[in-house]
Amino acid sequence: MISISEALGLIDQHAARLPAAPMAALDAIGCLLAEDVASDIDSPPYDKAMMDGYAVIAADLASGVAELEVIEEITAGNVPTKTVAPSQAARIMTGAPIPEGADAVVMIELTQKLDDGRVRIEAPGISVGKNIMPRASSLACGVTVLPSGKRLRALEVGILAEVGRDQVTVIPRPRVTVLSTGDELVDVTEMPGPGRIRNSNGPMLMAQIAAAGGSAEDLGIARDVRADLSAKIARGLEADILVLSGGVSAGVLDLVPSILAEQQVTQIFHKVNLKPGKPIWFGKRDSGGKSTLVFGLPGNPVSSLVCFELFVRRAIGLLAGLTANDLRSAEVELAEPFVHRGDRPTLFPARWGDATQRTATPLAWKGSADLAAMGAADLLLQFPAGDAEYRAGDRVSAIVL
Ligand code: AMP
Ligand code: MG
Repeated sequence: MISISEALGLIDQHAARLPAAPMAALDAIGCLLAEDVASDIDSPPYDKAMMDGYAVIAADLASGVAELEVIEEITAGNVPTKTVAPSQAARIMTGAPIPEGADAVVMIELTQKLDDGRVRIEAPGISVGKNIMPRASSLACGVTVLPSGKRLRALEVGILAEVGRDQVTVIPRPRVTVLSTGDELVDVTEMPGPGRIRNSNGPMLMAQIAAAGGSAEDLGIARDVRADLSAKIARGLEADILVLSGGVSAGVLDLVPSILAEQQVTQIFHKVNLKPGKPIWFGKRDSGGKSTLVFGLPGNPVSSLVCFELFVRRAIGLLAGLTANDLRSAEVELAEPFVHRGDRPTLFPARWGDATQRTATPLAWKGSADLAAMGAADLLLQFPAGDAEYRAGDRVSAIVL
């Protein structure tokens, strides 16, 4: 049986970044940019007023006071038609282009309209350039505004819009299919009959995939019979990653590994020294230039959750263009003493121990079938194999949920 770090190493080896593809900027939130985006304009495109007020010649205000002739009014979206000469000013609004001749803007609060149409300004110390944003001072035409590798957020969509881009080349979201297997499963909306349980893993995995930056597709429930499993697995293999829940343990109806083998999926590992989640299966199919990674997660809901956070999330991140360095786990301090017993490395649920999220408190829980108790969990603490007593303040590696 391999270790967690050997399993992670094998995933890193097989999870290759997806090829870049064009996408609508609005659909690409969270994706990594796969091109350098350059500005097609100067921004601002002209010397721009940053205040509502008057465009003036700063030298006219050398004494701090002046009464000036108002030659026109320039609103945002319009262009000046006149040149400001000495002893003249133009009424100007925020965002409008500065007229020829003017070299400063005085804010409206420092001005007073006179009865003869002129304006009186009392503004000591107005310097050249005051309240003017010079052309191209934010960005110049041809300059890279977003470098390849940048993760797109709402902010970047705004920058893209400013430079005329509603389409960008990105690493697309990995397509991930989810197949829940088991004769005992009923759909969420059904009341389970005798011997039946609701399929909680399917919806949970769909949500985990979305949170991890994947594009999730639910294939529903497959019964533990070869024909149903085969047909649904074949569909699932069209994606970048197929995640199966259940059917990879040692039960008589754990048929998943043999059906995957029939469909040319090569096993990379089966079973990892870990608790919960030991039966996890990982493989890959290469067919016609396309690769599909396959994860068979143990059906136990907590095992499924833990294996996803530990292994599948990593694969989604790598396909989406992250590097192993981006995916390092966190470290926290134990808020209180803790005794860990067990012969396998263990992922143990914990909640934050303080508001600054520096420390963690392990939860009381009844083991890996106790998904409900996990509801209080903020993170999973990773304890090495063996019995050990930890003190408050000891550092433990952790996966934040
Ligand atoms: P398996 O890995 O198929 O042997 O299943 C292990 C345990 O997890 C059994 O108790 C199953 O009933 C339970 N289980 C399997 N699949 C699911 C699922 N999709 N949702 C909730 N529990 C499940
Ligand atoms: Mg099963």
